[in-house]
Amino acid sequence: MTAFSEPGATGTALLLLGRGSDHGSERGVACPGALPAPSDPDLVERARTAKAALGERVFVLGHHYQRDEVIQFADVTGDSFKLAREAAARPQAEYIVFCGVHFMAESADILTGDAQQVVLPDLAAGCSMADMAALHQVETCWQRLVDLDLADATVPVTYMNSSADIKGFVGRNGGLVCTSSNARQVLEWAFQRGRRVLFLPDQHLGRNTAVLELGFALEDCALYDPNKPAGGLTDQRLGEARMLLWRGHCSVHGRFSAECVSEVRDRVPGVNVLVHPECRYEVVTAADHVGSTEYIIRTLESAPAGSAWAVGTELNLVRRLANRHPDKQVMFLDRTVCYCSTMNRIDLPHLVWALEELVAGRVVNRITVDDRTSHDARVALDRMLALA
Ligand code: SF4
Repeated sequence: MTAFSEPGATGTALLLLGRGSDHGSERGVACPGALPAPSDPDLVERARTAKAALGERVFVLGHHYQRDEVIQFADVTGDSFKLAREAAARPQAEYIVFCGVHFMAESADILTGDAQQVVLPDLAAGCSMADMAALHQVETCWQRLVDLDLADATVPVTYMNSSADIKGFVGRNGGLVCTSSNARQVLEWAFQRGRRVLFLPDQHLGRNTAVLELGFALEDCALYDPNKPAGGLTDQRLGEARMLLWRGHCSVHGRFSAECVSEVRDRVPGVNVLVHPECRYEVVTAADHVGSTEYIIRTLESAPAGSAWAVGTELNLVRRLANRHPDKQVMFLDRTVCYCSTMNRIDLPHLVWALEELVAGRVVNRITVDDRTSHDARVALDRMLALA
């Protein structure tokens, strides 16, 4: 079976996420301590030693999109919500080291006990999608709905990939959180309570779920652009829309195109195209299978030997899946797109530094959410959990 190979470069000059930089979402925070050199040959041993010294006092979470060099030290791997719940289920762990991005560490702080401290090894690991919805922008949008007498019939829903501020806003205003696994169920709940949903911050997950799973028309969706006056929407359009989609997207999944799908179908006859619902509508509709990260993992696990799969999600995960399933042909959907640059900020030197500081009794890069935001965000998360 063909071994996995990195996508080859094309003539199109694209930012190679993770090799270049994504200044919009990297927060520009320098490490406050002395990082070990990446060339230090003892990094693996140092991480092992520090982790062993901390024992059950530390619990390391590894998001699926993390580098292999970091994932090897994770006590559990998963998507952001699964990881936060795993941390909450281990109250004996004083320190939760979250190998992921900022909003995930916030969610872990919200869901874990007061005695647990959450550490993000590199504070520069933000998320461009979460950063596309700032609280003041969402409040401006909501005030307009209030002024037009539309807010009472509008249920705000936010994707897990949003800041604690936004989850708190949603909790205060009768809404809830969704993941890419339960977006349909959450939207059904919301439409039983309101005529309209304000969906934050990922327009693609919102549109794909509303149109492809709930049967809305594309015209029922209106795109609210926080960077345009009045969101770029007339009062009439706001009033008519059933799905008010925030103009946000994932900088990794948003790069896949319908051309990627047709190109791989031409190149690999019989290939199955499997994509994440954060991809654009035209990509999702051209694909054979659509689902969350966990769905992608399960689908490849149960796929027959010899089958070919082009996968539209983050490259670290696709490469790991290709290595895990050598009896299947697993390839990256795009020939140019690479890693999530902010996920890739967490590397072995940062992990070693964070663990060794904990061994020395110093908690570095702690992520905390204030009590009011935490309470309101918890309300939004609990409404989602009640649906399960
Ligand atoms: S993959 Fe996309 S949604 Fe996930 S952290 Fe990176 S930018 Fe954010």
